[in-house]
Amino acid sequence: MNYVFGPVSSKRLGQSLGVDLLPAKSCTWNCIYCQLGRTKEYVTERREFFPKEDILAEILETVRSGKKIDWITFVGSGETTLYKGLGWLISEVKKATEIPVAIITNGSLLSLPEVRRELLEADAVLPSLNAGSPELFERIDRPAPGFTFERHVEGIRLFRQEYKGKLWVEVMLIKGVNDSEEALGELAAVLSGIRPDMIHLVLPTRPAPESVVGIPDEERVQRAVFVLSAAAPVLNPAKGEMNLDSAENLPDTVASIASRHPVQERELQAALGKLFGGDAAKIREAMGELLASGRFEKVRQGGELYWIIKA
Ligand code: SF4
Repeated sequence: MNYVFGPVSSKRLGQSLGVDLLPAKSCTWNCIYCQLGRTKEYVTERREFFPKEDILAEILETVRSGKKIDWITFVGSGETTLYKGLGWLISEVKKATEIPVAIITNGSLLSLPEVRRELLEADAVLPSLNAGSPELFERIDRPAPGFTFERHVEGIRLFRQEYKGKLWVEVMLIKGVNDSEEALGELAAVLSGIRPDMIHLVLPTRPAPESVVGIPDEERVQRAVFVLSAAAPVLNPAKGEMNLDSAENLPDTVASIASRHPVQERELQAALGKLFGGDAAKIREAMGELLASGRFEKVRQGGELYWIIKA
């Protein structure tokens, strides 16, 4: 499979089948917390990077394999809506299956009427909004020229007016950057004007390209939940669990997940534990097999060990 990965277990979307439509990394932003690393060159023009028929074929093959899938989630190596055939893909998937479709996006292209139109058929759209002021927006998301805070907020606001599905705005809470009373108050005010169905608070638990990025302590997280609740119900940050369906081709399965985001070693051990019913010898053997494949290296970030794909 070139475009489809998972299903991956996620707290927010259950068993989520991921669809990646982009060459790595293609984005309009260069967020300080991006788990894909820094944006080397901004991509701002929409294109059909890969044939849409090939992507659809992979999605349908996986859906028909009978695996348990709660959501088909378009997400990927950059900004999802840069893919020009997205509207066609959503529409074809909706014709073929009743599994709901979610779009994870930074929301930067929602200012374009054609992008808003293409997303109307999706069951849930999850745009990002990490700041309530232009200064903080520039500092966190470091957008391509022309992608201003005002344009961003207006795009999401217009989309809200036209869209009947679930609008879940994702807020990345970063220690010492946007977790102050003032920053949260400004963000809550902007979110109130947008009226999302829900706010998903997320934490930078994965390796980030900038050392300034850290995880806020529990007290700050609770304060953020409290302040942002003035705008919409807030989903508390909680990590999704990793799930491994079978012991076959384990290095391939883990590599397909790690190519999208670094895998926390404890998550990997927990997933293997579930797969092997807690059999410690088998877990050790599988970890050994994965390491021996030579495809991964371990990095430490914020006290956690992560597995990444070897360069
Ligand atoms: S919008 Fe997403 S992919 Fe783009 S830089 Fe930010 S975190 Fe990375």
